This record gives sequence, structure tokens and C-alpha cells, in this order.
Amino acid sequence: MFCIAIDGPAGAGKSSVAKAAAEKLHFLYVDTGAIYRTIALYLLEKGIDPHDPQAAEAALPGIEVSLSHTEEGQRMFLNGEDVTARIRTEAVSMATSAAAAIPAVRAHLLGIQRGLAEKNNVLMDGRDIGTVVLPNAQLKVFLTASPEERARRRAAQLEQAGERADYEEILKEIKARDHQDSTRDIAPLKPAPDAVLLDTSGLSFTESVEALVGLARGRMASHE
Ligand code: C5P
Repeated sequence: MFCIAIDGPAGAGKSSVAKAAAEKLHFLYVDTGAIYRTIALYLLEKGIDPHDPQAAEAALPGIEVSLSHTEEGQRMFLNGEDVTARIRTEAVSMATSAAAAIPAVRAHLLGIQRGLAEKNNVLMDGRDIGTVVLPNAQLKVFLTASPEERARRRAAQLEQAGERADYEEILKEIKARDHQDSTRDIAPLKPAPDAVLLDTSGLSFTESVEALVGLARGRMASHE
């Protein structure tokens, strides 16, 4: 199997770029953030503090996470219920970042992620895919953009969806999540030593997708 690991901070356009690149390459796109979000949603709904490692660990046996890949993309199931839409709120984002810092949570999800890469050519998107989940991935890309560029894009996205967007507030939240993700003890967000850095700050969406597909095709050609 050929595995592509895409890591990088929140809001760099990683998932939309990765998804579009996976389609062009005919690879299975796996959004691992959605898997973490599903765990966080369960904790929130059960009133369990996502910052409390003992409580979160104790809850894990009651959580069954599964995914399916459909024409419209990846769908997430929590104990059999489709929660694809419900994992996208800001409250879930912040809770996810906290829950993802708990070693037992990460260990619980490792098997799901590796299992997908054993059976498919995957383009897997996350924070520690190149460093921890798929250290033998044939291509590792660290996809990023400046916090200001990411906040600008997110604000534009919200405005387009007819929602209120406060640039300063979004920038603050992006920086807080970057800090929480990159300073945690376990699997901190950092490029694998052998990752290719792709900074999309000056690139359009199409240019970013083309850059990623180009990297993948180059690497696949050298593995043939
Ligand atoms: O990618 P997304 O923003 O949906 O991820 C939500 C959160 O899940 C991240 O802020 C991060 O804390 C966590 N995460 C992680 N490892 C991954 C994917 C996501 O820790 N592989």
C-alpha cells in the first residue's frame, strides 16, 4: 500500500486540499481529526471533562467509533449513530484539542487509523500521522500557513456561510489551539524529520492541491 501522511495546524486548508488531492490520486482520504472529534463529542454529551485524563480514559470502553467512506466523503459514527455534522462546532473543536492530549485516547485511536492504511492506499490527514501513526509513509507533507492567513480564510468561510465572523477572535482561537496542540507531551504537532514542508500562505486552493498532487506523483514514480 502507498501511504501519504499530511500533518499541519488547524485551518491551513489541510482537509479540503488533502481531500481534493486524494480524489485526483484515487486514494482513500482519511480525516483523523474527525475521529478525535467523535470521542470529544461523546465526552461533552456525557458531561465528562475532556481535560480529565482519568475520567476520559474510564469512558473509552463505552465509545465505539466507526467510519464509512461515501461519495460525499467520510461519515463518522458514534455508537452506531451518524454524528458527522455534530462534530463540527467550536465547542467540540476545543474539547477535541484537550481530549487529544490524553495518552489513552490516542492509543485507543491508533488501531483504527493503522487498520485503514493496511487495507487501502490512503492519504491520511492529522497532526501526528508522519511522526507516530504511519512513520513508514512513503510521503510525508507538513502543510501549513501563517496564523493570520488561516484566520482570514476561516473568517471568509464563515461569512460565506452567512455566519458571524470576528477575525481577532478567530485568530486568538487559532493561536490557542496551535499552542495546545504543539506543546502537549504526547504526539505534539511538529513536522516529521523527513516531511516536505508545504506553506500555502501565498497559494490558491487549486495551486495547493496541484502542489500536493505533484509531490505525490513524483514520489510514486520513484517507488515504481
Ligand atoms: O483536524 P481537526 O481540526 O478536525 O482536529 C481537531 C483536533 O484534533 C486538533 O486540534 C487536534 O488537537 C486533534 N488531532 C490530533 N491528532 C490528529 C488529528 C487531530 O491530535 N491526528
